Amino acid sequence: MLSTLIKSFSRSTPSLAGAQYRAYSRQMPMMYPILLSSTWIVAYVHTDIAPLWLTVAIPALFTAACVLRMLHWLKAYETIPSPEEAAKAFRATMLLAPIIASSFTVWSFLLFSYGTPYTKSYLAFYMANTVVVCIFCLMHVREAALIVTLIVNGAFIGFFAWAGQPTFLAMALNTALVSIGMLVVLSINYDDFARRIAAEADASAKQTEQARLMRMIDDMPVAVMTADPIDFKITYLNDASRKLLRRIEHLLPIDAEAMIGASIDIFHLVPDRQRRLLSDPTRLPHRIRINLGNEVLDLNASAIHADDGNYLGPMLTWAIVTSEVEAEKKIRYLAHHDALTGLANRVTLNDALLKLTSDALTPGALLLIDLDGFKVINDTLGHKFGDELLVAVAKRLSEPCDRHSAVIARQGGDEFAIVLTNVSTSQCDTITSDILTRLSEPFVLERKRVAQIGASIGVALFPKHATSAEEVMVRADMALYVAKTAGKGGVRYFTTEMQDEFVAANRLENELRIALSSGKGLSIFYQPIIDLRHRKVVSREALARWYHDELGWVSPATFIVAAERSDLILKLGHHVLHEACREAMSWDGGETVAVNISASQMGRSELLSVVRSALDQSGLPPERLELEITETALLRNEAASVAELEQIRALGVRISLDDFGTGYSSLAHLRLFPFDKIKIDGSFVRDALDRADCASIVAAVIDLGNRLGVATVAEGVETLAHFNLMQDLGCHQVQGYLLGRPSA
Ligand code: C2E
Ligand code: MG
Ligand code: MG
Repeated sequence: MLSTLIKSFSRSTPSLAGAQYRAYSRQMPMMYPILLSSTWIVAYVHTDIAPLWLTVAIPALFTAACVLRMLHWLKAYETIPSPEEAAKAFRATMLLAPIIASSFTVWSFLLFSYGTPYTKSYLAFYMANTVVVCIFCLMHVREAALIVTLIVNGAFIGFFAWAGQPTFLAMALNTALVSIGMLVVLSINYDDFARRIAAEADASAKQTEQARLMRMIDDMPVAVMTADPIDFKITYLNDASRKLLRRIEHLLPIDAEAMIGASIDIFHLVPDRQRRLLSDPTRLPHRIRINLGNEVLDLNASAIHADDGNYLGPMLTWAIVTSEVEAEKKIRYLAHHDALTGLANRVTLNDALLKLTSDALTPGALLLIDLDGFKVINDTLGHKFGDELLVAVAKRLSEPCDRHSAVIARQGGDEFAIVLTNVSTSQCDTITSDILTRLSEPFVLERKRVAQIGASIGVALFPKHATSAEEVMVRADMALYVAKTAGKGGVRYFTTEMQDEFVAANRLENELRIALSSGKGLSIFYQPIIDLRHRKVVSREALARWYHDELGWVSPATFIVAAERSDLILKLGHHVLHEACREAMSWDGGETVAVNISASQMGRSELLSVVRSALDQSGLPPERLELEITETALLRNEAASVAELEQIRALGVRISLDDFGTGYSSLAHLRLFPFDKIKIDGSFVRDALDRADCASIVAAVIDLGNRLGVATVAEGVETLAHFNLMQDLGCHQVQGYLLGRPSA
């Protein structure tokens, strides 16, 4: 039983064990003097009737033992024991309590036999009373009190009941009842004590936890603030909050240090809404941004509830997010604007188109604008000037739209778009012609450089031409394509014919793809080029031909353009180059073969390997191959194209500048690359007969060729008159129907 009790004690919580220790360490020193003084009185009363060892020796022994214990407890008085010390003290008490109780009881019974009826009554009184004191002193070690009660009172009741004397029997009965009552009271008291200690321990643990939490909140890198939900006064600020408040102190009506107790309204111009929100926990959590001077505060208000669910008030975690807001703004701006010009970008353009087409009752238009000549300026003056020019163009585009609801966007490169809302066709006409006029005026750039460009515009009207955003875009694009191919500086409105042509072009593209895969219908014709001095064919130009079962002969002007629109031109170019080299190998006269190279084939780092493989596979000497390049092709990706041509030329292949006189016709381009031949465009040659200015330009080109050591070829020589004129002007070679049509 004892061990069970000890275990139960050791199972008690450390806080209860400590509290028990402190309580009974205060009472124990009091128990021993009472016990001893009563014992000595009993001994004295028996001095004459009991032997000396019982009246002096044993009490002296008791005294020594009790004094030792008393000193022990006096030392322990008010100390705070460790859980181990408390357990040890308990174990000692549990061992000593039965020993002391039994010793005193046995001593009392030994004296009893010597006593008179009075002393016997006194002895019974001594036992019954003293045990009460001991029990009360031991009340905080309930188990020890119980053991003492059982030993002393058990023996008392048993002994006096056995004695058979009616008075003692009554005493025994009395003592038994008192013992039961005492034990009940003691037990109740002990439970209350244990509960109180548990509650205190709980409260103390909570307090520690709260203090820890407060420390954590205080030290948190997030700013925390709490406010009273009734008067909205600030009740708490953590360190981070104080720091932030010091940063914005100049924007607040009170000092950062005086914030506790101040109204939270200081953050708001119109605090009513805020108050309504913070006083109603059902509306929390809620995130708000407040503009305070030039700073932006981000507040996250959440509700703090007590354990019973009562709303204690709002807790605000907050931060100064001014720089984040600015960054957000910037990101949002960049996501919707073109970084260079500040105009809208594709995303915004698309949004504007969706908005326009969402209301069929409001007419609008999409203008797609492509700059003419921008690429040359960008390539010749450099990208810095190119960028400057684009910014200036953006400005000029805005002016004609000033009085209209317009979204002006840069689509990329030199392509711009304008979505006009609520405009009539005539207003659209005015705007487009205004744009063309403004863009055709010279641009004076940095370092007084002057740039002259133009623009082509394609227009689709909503809802007249198209009803969805996508359709408006596709149709304006068709109109732009037509405007561009029709020549520079033009405006084209979408027409159904364009749509038909577009469908036809798509079909053509598909058919050409099939022809290229099967090789069916494709062939190459050759047209001779005659050397005027030696009067013999020195070269033959390879010209692609396509015969379609349903469409008949399709003009190269049509299918080459279709091929260039897609990547089919690469496959076609590859095919012609290989075939031409292979066939040239069968020519007896050792003439060179001239192969046309499209702009789309240039600057892709593919041409060199195609040329190499065509020469390798056919066995044609490189000197017998000529490539014809147009000015436009050269300028599209100038640096890469020139580098590519240089590598091809290094193989021994010759390079001709085709169709000179069309395109940009800039003599400067002749210096970009050391061409082996200049082919003067046929239209130019034809006009030279009737127009002196054309004749003099042809003469100038021939003269320049002579001076640069470059051969000149006149294309489109159809008549003898052309032939004679070219001969008179000193042209080196001629090509045209007069001398031979392209043939298989
Ligand atoms: P191009 O390179 O300037 O070729 C000369 C064009 O002038 C050929 O037209 C030829 O038939 C035509 N021509 C020659 N002599 C005369 C003449 O006396 N009078 C007239 N009116 N025309 C003459 P074609 O074959 O219709 O080719 C047109 C253009 O298509 C070519 O112009 C060339 O740029 C392109 N082309 C033809 N074949 C190919 C090819 O295989 N690859 C590439 N990339 N382009 C090609
Ligand atoms: Mg040619
Ligand atoms: Mg030509």
